[in-house]
Amino acid sequence: MSYDGPTELYIDGEWTAAENGETIETVDPATEETYATVACASAEDVTHAVAAADAAAERGSEWRTMSPSDRGAYLRTMADEIEAMADEIGLVESHDNGKTPFEASLDVDMVVDTFRYYAGWADKLTGETIPVPGNRLDYTLQEPLGVTAHIAPWNYPFQLAGRSLAPALACGNTAVLKPSNTTPLTALYYAKAAEAAGLPDGVLNVIPGRGSEAGSALVSDPAVDHVAFTGSTGVGKHIMSEAADNVTGVTLELGGKGPNMVFPDADLEAASKGVHYGIFMNCGQMCWAGSRLLVHEDIHDEVVERVVNRAEATPLGSGIDDDGRMGPAVSESHREEVLDYIQTGIEEGATVATGGGIPEDKERGYFIEPTVFTDVTNDMTIAREEIFGPVLSVIEFSDDEEAIEIANDSPFGLSAGVWTNNINRAHDTAARLDYGMVSINEYPQTFPQTPFGGFKESGVGREQGTEAIKEYTQAKNVNVNIDR
Ligand code: NAD
Repeated sequence: MSYDGPTELYIDGEWTAAENGETIETVDPATEETYATVACASAEDVTHAVAAADAAAERGSEWRTMSPSDRGAYLRTMADEIEAMADEIGLVESHDNGKTPFEASLDVDMVVDTFRYYAGWADKLTGETIPVPGNRLDYTLQEPLGVTAHIAPWNYPFQLAGRSLAPALACGNTAVLKPSNTTPLTALYYAKAAEAAGLPDGVLNVIPGRGSEAGSALVSDPAVDHVAFTGSTGVGKHIMSEAADNVTGVTLELGGKGPNMVFPDADLEAASKGVHYGIFMNCGQMCWAGSRLLVHEDIHDEVVERVVNRAEATPLGSGIDDDGRMGPAVSESHREEVLDYIQTGIEEGATVATGGGIPEDKERGYFIEPTVFTDVTNDMTIAREEIFGPVLSVIEFSDDEEAIEIANDSPFGLSAGVWTNNINRAHDTAARLDYGMVSINEYPQTFPQTPFGGFKESGVGREQGTEAIKEYTQAKNVNVNIDR
């Protein structure tokens, strides 16, 4: 099926080719064929987009002076527009990224819910009155930051862009969105939704481009007031140091190496299902993947058998196969990286319980077999580094102390799963984990209303929920001497 969606940059309310005429070709990971060609923003295009966003964010601008309730109404209309295009966006995402239509539809639904959630926040951004000494009135105003840059990865291209755009816009900021050059298509549907909703020109600008040029230019533009980045820890560190030059604030949503911890008193059927989704959804290309299965020695063999059976029963398919349950890796080069990790696991002494290679019946597409490693120790490369593919590392533990120690022994701290029917063990374990998100008896799970983000090298700041409101506003304190 050919692509007939938007292909140009969206800057200051206009669709435009890149100033130097450059384009990006995207490949359907399931067919290995070119799917679409879209404009590729240069550094000069970035400057134009940021200038448009800056003008739209000025104090006297339409966006800045609008009633907050009207701003909320714009977000609600954008949600409606996105919902009306949901089938098309889902299909485009399937072809662009490789995820199954079911997975893509979950992403679009989450965005619609997120825009509706933050639409409600737009007119509830209150400050506070603060009791201070003397005859004074002291109060705070919650003000927008100005221009927010949004740099999105390729694994959840539509959903993760919307996750930061919605709160940023609700708080009265303007935005420049740069999607990954690997999956640039669905970001352009935000521009379509903004145009259809009648958002003032310059409030939302969308510029597909490469990280090295457009991304870098965006982060270092002095008119950018905040960078919301979702991507790898390596690039996140680089962005943090570039943003430091202009003292620009950052929200960094980075990598993970999540432990899914199964205790002997757990419902093993439910746990096996959660472990399966936690590592094989989205072809394992998830920051919050439960990529380490920590399982008690008494139930190790039974849990492994259940997880292996599920892995082997997973139909591989994509946007064009209706019965697909796990899509391909996003690109050939990424599949190579995942296969290299599998090789490293074997060389370091882990045992392949199932999978480990390219499925024999798939002649086209960047498919990888769902892979389970047993006999893994927490010092092995496959237990420490983010593989970002359908590869599960099973590590045995003998008591709760050891389980918590292994779980916390990681440079990352994004998301952890706990499976137990003992209420004390559940809450005590959750309290002792160095992770930004803990799910008990289901995995993975998040909502627009709940904070998303990590400890340690998994990031800085939080998206979603009320926490994101703090990321996209700044407090101004006003002190009034009321002596007469
Ligand atoms: P990536 O870091 O390679 O790229 C992310 C984005 O940054 C892309 O848009 C890219 O073009 C841009 N970029 C690259 N170099 C840049 C530079 N020098 N300056 C500015 N921008 C630049 O990540 P990816 O491969 O697209 O995504 C996978 C990674 O994202 C994984 O590590 C995953 O864990 C992480 N991730 C984290 C979360 C989270 O919420 N914590 C969610 C999804 C993905």
